[in-house]
Amino acid sequence: MDLTYPIEAEAFRSEIRGWLEANLPEGWFEPGFSMSDEDRSQFNKEWPSKLFEGGWICATWPQEYGGKGLSTMEGVVLSEEFARAKAPLRADFFGDTLVGPTILQWGSEEQKREFLPQILKGEMTWCQGFSEPNSGSDLASLKTTAVLDGDEWVINGQKVWTTQGHHADYCFLLVRTDSEVPKHQGISYLLVPMRQDGIEVRGITQPDGTAEFCEVFFTDARCPHDNVVGGVNNGWKVANSTLAFERGMSATTGFRRFAEELRVLTEAARANGSIDDPSIRQRLAEYHTKIEILRINGLRSLTATLNDTKDVSIAALGASNKMFWSEMHQRAMELALDIFGADSMLIDTGPPAWPGANRDSRRDGYPVNPMMSSFFFSRSETIWGGTSQIQRNIVAERVLGLPKEPKAPSG
Ligand SMILES: Cc1cc2nc3c(=O)[nH]c(=O)nc-3n(C[C@H](O)[C@H](O)[C@H](O)COP(=O)(O)OP(=O)(O)OC[C@H]3O[C@@H](n4cnc5c(N)ncnc54)[C@H](O)[C@@H]3O)c2cc1C
Repeated sequence: MDLTYPIEAEAFRSEIRGWLEANLPEGWFEPGFSMSDEDRSQFNKEWPSKLFEGGWICATWPQEYGGKGLSTMEGVVLSEEFARAKAPLRADFFGDTLVGPTILQWGSEEQKREFLPQILKGEMTWCQGFSEPNSGSDLASLKTTAVLDGDEWVINGQKVWTTQGHHADYCFLLVRTDSEVPKHQGISYLLVPMRQDGIEVRGITQPDGTAEFCEVFFTDARCPHDNVVGGVNNGWKVANSTLAFERGMSATTGFRRFAEELRVLTEAARANGSIDDPSIRQRLAEYHTKIEILRINGLRSLTATLNDTKDVSIAALGASNKMFWSEMHQRAMELALDIFGADSMLIDTGPPAWPGANRDSRRDGYPVNPMMSSFFFSRSETIWGGTSQIQRNIVAERVLGLPKEPKAPSG
């Protein structure tokens, strides 16, 4: 296996490194660098516009919609360098990663011109209105309706687990627009403004005190008729594109966060002596092995994409990726609790820094340290974006061609 990158890719890598060094706060690359809460909040506020000026947000999008038109290889190098520098590379996850690419694939010219530039500038935040109280894994059974009234859709129903629902300007929403046809054929994908009287958002508080996901109630909420993406009653196909983007993970950078966790865990185990326990050593070695599998599989997928040699084994790799890393990470967070022992309890004196911890997990009288917050969140990783069980069904039925699971008799 040849793991070297072409010369042009390395030249581009130097350009990105130069930009990062010139634009990140002073001292960023020095060991032990940290920011005060105030500096971090200022950095978070200013960074998206710096990224936009550099042209790095969604840089693989076509230039006509404000992207930089980077090639796949350049996009990979860009993500690698940002990941290496631990610098954020997005304005809004739901906009950049889910609805933006979906609009690029399915949207009308007007939708692309209206929404994509605002996503790129970080001016518009989004939430995903798919799940309902009785429609999660069986998403196509959703009941929220939209009915045309002149040139507007009138929406009624309820969504749940809507992450960032309380901060979002817009929702990409799945609604039933025809209940007379089989369930997959009567769904539409709408772009709905969130700040209107017909929408009520209620946060759901989690064990670490955050309330990042919500219940959203629609009572005669409205959006323009033209905000349907991919055609009326074609929403199931459009939603599947969004779900594929959600389940993907940046092939050659996704492993880095876990590698950093492993480093912190190994250091902690050395410091408190738990490294002498053979079962802890074995579990650390298992984590290392799985991270390497993730890294190498990422390179396999990238090679197949660049050489256009995707076959059934690469498709299986893509389809099993999310269940692989989410199950691996749950085990790793259980290992973290065992290594940190009493220090991992629900008090704010645990491990001071935890890789990837960006959740504001403080709450009065019930502080949770960032590692514990990451432990709690890992429990949800095998659920959001499609549960592990559903992912296994997809691998079995769609990739391996095994017989479909029997459906429960109706009625
Ligand atoms: C942190 C987090 C963030 C989320 N954010 C969003 C969001 O922003 N927007 C949004 O729309 N949704 C969001 N969700 C919801 C998520 O998509 C659903 O929770 C998920 O699809 C599962 O649906 P459910 O919770 O209704 O569980 P159910 O579908 O009721 O499943 C319950 C259990 O039964 C199993 N099961 C169900 N059907 C089958 C089957 N056919 N074969 C085998 N096992 C099966 C499931 O695997 C699961 O273990 C989020 C969820 C979490 C945890």
